[in-house]
Amino acid sequence: MYDITIIGGGVTGCFIARQLCRYDLEVVLIEKNYDVANETTKANSGIIHSGYDARPGTLKAKLNTLGNPMFDEICSELGVPLKRIGSLTIAKTNKEMGTLKKLYERGCTNGIPQLSLIDADVVRRIEPNIHHQVKGALLAETAGIVDPFCLTIALAENASDNGTEVKLETRIVGIDREKDGYLLTTDGGSIRSRYVISCAGVYAEEINDLLTPSHFKIAPRKGDYVVFDKKTGGLVNHVIFQCPSEKGKGVLVTPTVHGNLLVGPDSEVVKCKDDVSTTRSGLDEILATSAKSVEGIPVGMAITNFSGLRATPDTGDFIIEELKGHKGFINVAGIESPGLTASPAIADYVIEILKSSGLDLKTKADFNPIREPIAEFIELSDEEKSTLIKANPLYGRVICRCENITEGEIVDSIRRNVGARSVDGVKRRVRAGMGRCQGGFCAPRIIEILARELQKNACQILKDEKDSYILSGGI
Ligand SMILES: Cc1cc2nc3c(=O)[nH]c(=O)nc-3n(C[C@H](O)[C@H](O)[C@H](O)COP(=O)(O)OP(=O)(O)OC[C@H]3O[C@@H](n4cnc5c(N)ncnc54)[C@H](O)[C@@H]3O)c2cc1C
Repeated sequence: MYDITIIGGGVTGCFIARQLCRYDLEVVLIEKNYDVANETTKANSGIIHSGYDARPGTLKAKLNTLGNPMFDEICSELGVPLKRIGSLTIAKTNKEMGTLKKLYERGCTNGIPQLSLIDADVVRRIEPNIHHQVKGALLAETAGIVDPFCLTIALAENASDNGTEVKLETRIVGIDREKDGYLLTTDGGSIRSRYVISCAGVYAEEINDLLTPSHFKIAPRKGDYVVFDKKTGGLVNHVIFQCPSEKGKGVLVTPTVHGNLLVGPDSEVVKCKDDVSTTRSGLDEILATSAKSVEGIPVGMAITNFSGLRATPDTGDFIIEELKGHKGFINVAGIESPGLTASPAIADYVIEILKSSGLDLKTKADFNPIREPIAEFIELSDEEKSTLIKANPLYGRVICRCENITEGEIVDSIRRNVGARSVDGVKRRVRAGMGRCQGGFCAPRIIEILARELQKNACQILKDEKDSYILSGGI
C-alpha cells in the first residue's frame, strides 16, 4: 500500500513528487508515456510569468504570484538554467496604452513587484528590433524563461534519487474506493494507495470519471509554435507579448533559455486530446502576427515547429481540491497557463490539502535537494575540457555537431535515475538533435549509444512514444 499515488508525469505531477520526497512517505508517480514531460509540459512557451495577467482573486493569480519567485532556488538546486530576462507587453495605439495601464493596475493588485510602464524611446533602447509603431510597453522585470522539459526531468530525477518510485508506461484505467484508500487499476496490474493526486493534464476529467462523474470539463486548446536557429536568438532581449484584446492574447516572440528564437502560440479548440499536429495555416498566422511586434522575424531560419494542448477548464480557473465525498482523492486539473510558473506553488498548495485531509508529514533526515546537472561540455574552459576527457574519453567524441554534444553527456543522460531511453529522451535531456539539422546527422549514432547502454538491439530503440520504432530488420 502506497501512501500517495500521483497520476501524471508532467511538470505539475513531478513538482508534487519532488516536494513530497522530503517527507517519510511511500510515493509512486504513474505516467502512461515512455518518459516524463511528454505532453503539454514539453510544448509550451517556457515563460515564468510575472503574474500581472491573471484575474485577481483567482487561484491562477495567487499561485502565479507565489510560484514565480520560487524558481531561483529550485533551479539552482536542480542545476536547471533559468534566465530572468523580463517581459514587455507592447501597445501600438492609444486604446492599447489604456489596456496596458489596466494590466499594470491588475499587476499591482496581484502584488507583482518590478512592474513599470515605459515609453517608446525606452522600449526602442532596450529592444532595437521592436516594431516601429510601438508607442509604449508594460515592463515586468521578474518574468523569466526556463526549459520546461529539462526542469521536469530534473524534478523527476531528484524525486527518484530521494526514494519516489517512478512507473513509466503505466496507464491508469480504473479507480475504486476502498475502506482505507483507493484501488488503482493500471494496464499492468493494480496499486493500492491511501491518497491519490490526479495531475493528468487534458485527461484530468477522464481520470475523475473513473471514480465518479466529473463536475468539470477540460477542453484541449491547441497552440502552434515556430523555433528558429540559434543565430537568431538575439533578435529580442525580452519576452515580447502583444497587447491582449477581445480577439485574444496575440503571439509572443522570445529567446529561449538555450538561445533560439521562439514564436507562437495561436489558439484553436480541437476535438482530439492527442492532436498535436501543426498546420500550415496556423504557422502562417503565427509568423504574420509576430511580424506586428518585432521587425525582421527571420522566416528563412526556422528549424522546426511544434504544438501543445492547453487543458482549458470550463470553470475558468485551476481546479485544485479534494474531491467532495472522496476523502484523499485530489484533483489538480485545468492547469493551463500560467501552470508552469505556478507549479511549485501548486505543489505546496496540494501539500496543505494533504495535511488538512489528515496526512502526517515527517521530514526525512536524508533528503537531498541537490541534483548534479549533466556537464555541458561546450561551456567548459579548455582546461576543464581536457581534465574531463582524461577522466572519461567519451567527452572527447562530439556526437551532435549542431549543438556540440559529446558522447559523455549522452551516456550520463541515460545512466541516471529516470534516464533517457529514447532518441527524443536524449534530445530533451542534453539537446542532441535540437540544432539546425534536427538530428539528421546524430540520430543514428544516438541509436547506437542507446542500444549499447540499454543492452538492446538497435531495432528496439524508440524515437519517443510507445511503438515509435525507427529501424527494422536484423541489425
Ligand atoms: C501553448 C501553451 C503555452 C503555454 N505557455 C506557458 C508559459 O509560457 N508559462 C506557463 O507558466 N505555462 C504555460 N503553459 C501551461 C503549461 O504548459 C501547463 O500548465 C503545464 O505544462 C501543465 O502540466 P501538467 O503536468 O498539469 O500537464 P501535462 O504536462 O499534460 O501532464 C499530464 C500527464 O498526465 C499523464 N496522464 C494522463 N492520463 C493518464 C493516465 N490515464 N495514466 C497515467 N498517466 C496519465 C499524461 O501522459 C501527461 O504526461 C502553456 C500551455 C500551452 C499548451
